[in-house]
Amino acid sequence: MPLPQSTNAPTASGKDCAICKEPLLVPSSNNGQPSYVIDDVEFRCKHHFHWSCILEHSISSHDARNRCALCRQSVLDSQGEFIVKVRNEG
Ligand SMILES: [Zn+2]
Ligand SMILES: [Zn+2]
Repeated sequence: MPLPQSTNAPTASGKDCAICKEPLLVPSSNNGQPSYVIDDVEFRCKHHFHWSCILEHSISSHDARNRCALCRQSVLDSQGEFIVKVRNEG
């Protein structure tokens, strides 16, 4: 099944990354064929991000660590566990 070349990439969840506003997919190559894998991290506040964007965000601002980049809600539970839902096909 060839993937569409120039039209919109398939969307995983219908949402975009709240940091970079790109679809929650990352380009990948599958035997030389361009394709996408889902890279969707959902925080408990229901905001969605790429893993790489979260990492960059937490590196750029120490204060932002373990917090949603958008609403700044902590993503840690009372035990300090990181609570996110990750969907990654890759
Ligand atoms: Zn992103
Ligand atoms: Zn949020």
